[in-house]
Amino acid sequence: MNVIRVIPELRTALDAHRRDGKTIGFVPTMGYFHDGHRSLMRRARETTDVVVVSLFVNPAQFNDPKDLAAYPRDEERDFGIASEEGVDLVFVPAPGEMYPPGFATSVSVGGITEHLEGASRGAGHFAGVATVVAKLFNIVEPNTAFFGQKDAQQALVIRRMVRDLDLRLGIEVCPTVREPDGLAMSSRNVRLDTAARQQALALSTALLAAEKSVADGTRDPKAVVATAREVLAHAGVSPEYLELVSTDTLSPVRELRGEALLAVAAQIGGVRLIDNTILHAE
Ligand code: AMP
Repeated sequence: MNVIRVIPELRTALDAHRRDGKTIGFVPTMGYFHDGHRSLMRRARETTDVVVVSLFVNPAQFNDPKDLAAYPRDEERDFGIASEEGVDLVFVPAPGEMYPPGFATSVSVGGITEHLEGASRGAGHFAGVATVVAKLFNIVEPNTAFFGQKDAQQALVIRRMVRDLDLRLGIEVCPTVREPDGLAMSSRNVRLDTAARQQALALSTALLAAEKSVADGTRDPKAVVATAREVLAHAGVSPEYLELVSTDTLSPVRELRGEALLAVAAQIGGVRLIDNTILHAE
């Protein structure tokens, strides 16, 4: 496995593979790998010839400087995990490599970014995500890029950007990987103390309760959300948002028919966590 830190070197390495007719799979990450990241690397390994993982804690997408400073990092551990998963190239740019002096361009996706994370973290968050991902796509030029359903809105924003800008790659979204008790895996979970770790379980439990209520026949979106909200309240969690929205537009649903996305965000023990599930109503 090669670790590359500068753009021209990565391009040269990938051009050689492209000349050999190899397909390139790409997994963009912020590092501190867990089994969610591993699942994306595995899927890329299974379906493409050359697997590239980027590891970049992107300052432009953090609305809270304290959150950026506290974001866990461990390059050496990450290199070990990527190597175990058969990754060929790890791209680890310094912030100055991605944002040289005078950097002045931003990719802004409208509509779907106004809801959920966009409303909660501010418009700058997804502009930061879309800009860095567009740059990474142009640097790596993958055939397919892999994202997690854990960040459902992010995956939609990337798909929208790819369509709107005619970017030439496929996007594959992989299922959320969870701890045995249901907590969605996140690099941030290591920052939870014992009490917060217990409390954090309320997020996935609340989503499960909503799934059950829909399976039991509830069709009123307010009642479904109320079921989830009760679980959170019982655990002493007050969410930043808990919303049942359209899986396409992310606007609130008035009627439960077909698929809808139930998404939640909450600060737990000083750590911001998100989770979601797709509810299916016949
Ligand atoms: P991050 O390093 O948190 O920016 O995540 C990098 C990629 O891994 C994104 O596409 C995330 O959606 C995905 N990811 C993060 N957590 C999980 C998880 N628990 N299950 C599946 N994918 C995940």
